[in-house]
Amino acid sequence: MDSMISVIIPAYNEQESLSVFIPQLVAQLQSEGKYEIIVINDGSSDRTAEVVMEFHDKNPSIHLISLSRNFGAQAALYAGYEKARGACVISLDADMQHPISVIPKMLAKWHQGYDIVYAIRQKSIHLGFFKRLSSYLFHCFFKWLIGTKSDMGTDFRLMSRKAVDALNQSFEASPFLRGAVSYLGFRQCPVYYDEQKRQYGGASRYTLKKMLILAVTAMICFSLKPLHFITFLGILMIVGAGIALLTILGLYFGDNANISGTDIMLSILMLFSGIQMLSLGILGEYIGNISVTVRKRPLYLISESTLEED
Ligand code: UDP
Ligand code: MG
Repeated sequence: MDSMISVIIPAYNEQESLSVFIPQLVAQLQSEGKYEIIVINDGSSDRTAEVVMEFHDKNPSIHLISLSRNFGAQAALYAGYEKARGACVISLDADMQHPISVIPKMLAKWHQGYDIVYAIRQKSIHLGFFKRLSSYLFHCFFKWLIGTKSDMGTDFRLMSRKAVDALNQSFEASPFLRGAVSYLGFRQCPVYYDEQKRQYGGASRYTLKKMLILAVTAMICFSLKPLHFITFLGILMIVGAGIALLTILGLYFGDNANISGTDIMLSILMLFSGIQMLSLGILGEYIGNISVTVRKRPLYLISESTLEED
């Protein structure tokens, strides 16, 4: 199994697409050597499983993993990473939006010694305005959250065995692979591709609801910044209210007739709101700490060590 390439494909109601896509993928992979294709059927209600089994009967390198229900593409990919046996694992969508012509480029980078090669969508002329805008905003937000400047890839990526094993070490109750993979480290590099149009099976399987859930997962699982922000806001309000109160009281006792009881009330109100906000922030910080602890992400991952040679 030394140089086998694994390809994992999450599929949710992709019968039309898979029947066209799998033969094309097989042709591409055959020229690269030994391979396995694992389709993770994410609780499809159409003939996705049957289509893959028909391929499997003719070609034992094509495999099917069926999940018990629809868990979402992220969970399906995790299943693929756990079951894949290749020396490297390539993940791509079933809908042919990820061009397989990029695979040789990814493999070339892998041969150069990269552990993670992530594809970045360069042109997306076929995508709707809303999809492009939401994806752009999401990327900016996530980059701010985790404090990185580098571009985040898509779920179209190659990972070496070493990186996959490292990924499989950590348990994620709410999976968000792009975050988990960028957390892994190792030698990473991008490749670029032009997004294809979704040709079969109609609309995107990522509904607005699924997209929002993913964005919230990305936020709460990879950053405590929103919590720090509440704490910061609380401190700011207390300081502001303190200054206002002191000024107003100073003016009041300095016999300034323009100061009314309402002014004093307002600044006291602001002071208490600030204290409440800060208390929320502090509570949040503790909860944040619990959530980090519960995640059990490895504190560090070893890339190479001479200790492991013998
Ligand atoms: N997918 C899945 N489970 C889901 C939603 C999507 O396995 O609940 C798969 C889908 O079949 C496709 C991939 O995830 O192979 C990406 O989905 P889609 O193409 O709908 O997303 P988009 O390209 O719009 O981001
Ligand atoms: Mg798609």
